[in-house]
Amino acid sequence: MAQRIDGKALAARYKAKAAAEAAALREKGVQPRLAVVLAGENPASKTYVAGKARDCAECGILSDVIELPEQTGEQELLARVAALNANRAVHGVLVQLPLPAHISTSRVIHAIAPEKDVDGFTPVNVGRMVLGEECFLPCTPAGCLAMLQSTGVPLAGKDAVVIGRSNIVGKPMALLLTAQDVTVTLCHSHTEHLREKCAAADILIAAVGRAGFVTADMVKPGAIVIDVGINRGTDGRLCGDVDFAAANERASFITPVPGGVGLMTRAMLMHNTVKAARLQSAAL
Ligand code: NAD
Repeated sequence: MAQRIDGKALAARYKAKAAAEAAALREKGVQPRLAVVLAGENPASKTYVAGKARDCAECGILSDVIELPEQTGEQELLARVAALNANRAVHGVLVQLPLPAHISTSRVIHAIAPEKDVDGFTPVNVGRMVLGEECFLPCTPAGCLAMLQSTGVPLAGKDAVVIGRSNIVGKPMALLLTAQDVTVTLCHSHTEHLREKCAAADILIAAVGRAGFVTADMVKPGAIVIDVGINRGTDGRLCGDVDFAAANERASFITPVPGGVGLMTRAMLMHNTVKAARLQSAAL
């Protein structure tokens, strides 16, 4: 039976640290503040944004949720982002994805000021991450790395397989692991011999978006399994990409869904927002 990596407890520690830093900034007259732009009616996005606002309140971070209708034009959204970039009272600017289909995600992401890019999605932050320079790390892979580090298992020299190559999870995850001296295989929908590759991995990270995708035979005995997926199972319950019960029998450490990566993603956003406030206030 694997040890559970407790996302709830770890996220609580990160949020408490962010709250303490926010309090210290307030003492100096700086109120950390995050603006979240939500365009459209995506129910999952609404839930995520509500969660972010709750986290902010818990950490002593002011939050503004700017809700825009589905038919909002790209120029209107870009103008909103520009106004938030220019507002010195706002330290973090986050545009909730996915955007309505008629809006270019990349044009909107490019428009966010890098110093306020608390999601770590802008080309400047991504470039800095690739180069190993100081930056805002994208919240989900940063949360996964913190979970791996929380096991106390040395990561250097280990073999990892990351399944999924999205810009927000898989690709940056591979980079962050590489920076920890892990040897990474980044797999995707065209990968051949995926099962064999997974079965040889000391660290297996699943970010596909398909319930039950990772089966027991894909888990090396003693592997650390990080499940990023958020899906609805056939029973309607929230579940990850990993067949938890089966993987639990083989892994050394495993993250649950819910109660795993999702909570750490949210905690990392709080960390990044306080960091943005600290850096911007220091630059004044
Ligand atoms: P995405 O749809 O952008 O990417 C999915 C990836 O899976 C792609 O790179 C694709 O190549 C790969 N893939 C698809 N079928 C495959 C197959 N048969 N074999 C190997 N690879 C395959 O998704 P995403 O935005 O990276 O999200 C992935 C999952 O993680 C989703 O369930 C999403 O809801 C979840 N997610 C969770 C968090 C969190 O905080 N826990 C954050 C972001 C995303």
